[in-house]
Amino acid sequence: MSIMKLLYFPNKKLRKIAKSIKKIDDNIQLLVNNMLKTMYFYNGIGLAATQIGINKKIIVIDITMGKNNPLILINPTIIAFDKSKINSKEGCLSVPVKQQYYILRYKKIKIRAKNLMNENIELEAKYLLSFCIQHEMDHLNGILFIDYLSNLKYQRIYDKINKINKKIIFIKKHNYIK
Ligand code: ZN
Repeated sequence: MSIMKLLYFPNKKLRKIAKSIKKIDDNIQLLVNNMLKTMYFYNGIGLAATQIGINKKIIVIDITMGKNNPLILINPTIIAFDKSKINSKEGCLSVPVKQQYYILRYKKIKIRAKNLMNENIELEAKYLLSFCIQHEMDHLNGILFIDYLSNLKYQRIYDKINKINKKIIFIKKHNYIK
């Protein structure tokens, strides 16, 4: 198992639409293991394959951060949702700003997916788990949670991250770190 390199906004690969997985084989098992290791390493509660540059419909989630078994969802689709939306306070490993932002999400959803044993599963999720699944499924469609914010807020986040990136490039150029 290895910790994978995360992609950060505004990397264009984060905008790719993931492809369905046809066969759940050893490679997928290895990918899942690497995704879990990466998610726990970065203290995340969810990770989509898109975030490590893999263009496949797979997400891992653990809102208990290691206290329970993680949820592994392959080719997930939302099959029903409660119409009411509520505020969800979110951050994202791929958008490295300290602040969290409120996004409107479905309170309750029902999803269908495959697990690692290639079995079809259906699952009802509400509140945090529901928000987290929606956030990660968005990644598979090239959508970031900051896309839901106002243009002004989006631009502010873009500028902040750009500043950090410029600093890193400057430091690298001058060999402060190798
Ligand atoms: Zn995210």
